[in-house]
Amino acid sequence: IGISPLFETAPPPRTPQQTVPAPRLEIRDLTRAFAGRGVVSGVSLKVMPGQVTCLLGPSGCGKSTTLRIIAGVDRQDAGGVYVDGAPISEAGLHMPPEERGIGLMFQDFALFPHLDVARNVGFGLKGPKAEIRARVESLLDKVGMRRHIDRYPHELSGGEQQRVALARALAPSPRILLMDEPFSGLDDRLRDDIRDETLAVLKAEGTAVLLVTHEPAEAMRMADEIALMRDGRVVQYGAPYNIYNAPTDREAAAFFSDIN
Ligand code: ADP
Ligand code: MG
Repeated sequence: IGISPLFETAPPPRTPQQTVPAPRLEIRDLTRAFAGRGVVSGVSLKVMPGQVTCLLGPSGCGKSTTLRIIAGVDRQDAGGVYVDGAPISEAGLHMPPEERGIGLMFQDFALFPHLDVARNVGFGLKGPKAEIRARVESLLDKVGMRRHIDRYPHELSGGEQQRVALARALAPSPRILLMDEPFSGLDDRLRDDIRDETLAVLKAEGTAVLLVTHEPAEAMRMADEIALMRDGRVVQYGAPYNIYNAPTDREAAAFFSDIN
């Protein structure tokens, strides 16, 4: 494993008198099988308020299935999903997706081609027009897209569309944002910058984020905590520094070894 100077120093230890807040999002022992084949097998993780947890693992390990269950568009066979300590999904309970206060951003979550930027970002917001406009303008300021407010998606570059998509995902002020490989449609050249910009906006908004990625470099760059997933299970969970420096086994080490 190559050593990057970013990860040579350990984060400062938590002082004992700090009280730990409740997780914004928690999933416990989530299980899902398709046609008898276990795809998610007892996955547990947390996202603390204002933090980014990365669900990291190779293609096919069950990341998107886990996200769909949290969003409520699929159902687990067992286990539970909790927001601020309250169950939103467990045995005998399934809160509808639209009541969960959870935002979604996917790679192919395209903008509406027939709506300008203002209406894309304001889409679905309720309230007085002037308030919606103010919210839209403030978000476009944050993602550096205010000057493009009257443009249509086809008049924007890939990176600009990505920024507008982020503003749209944050517009309803979701308590939690689920992001599934959100940067994989971007050029390599752009990706690092957009990751950094996105992280800055998410931190400024204080959104709790569960970010799915198959790229270790992305997780190292963005995560407060990483859940390393393989074959439907979380095989290692913790701070990026710890996972990078003390991989749980050879396979985890190999997975991180081609980080650039
Ligand atoms: P990842 O997002 O980590 O690439 P997925 O959660 O999309 O993985 O898929 C994990 C496995 O579950 C894959 O083998 C996929 O083919 C399978 N799978 C996902 N959804 C379904 C479904 N609705 N029916 C059958 N198999 C599925
Ligand atoms: Mg996936």
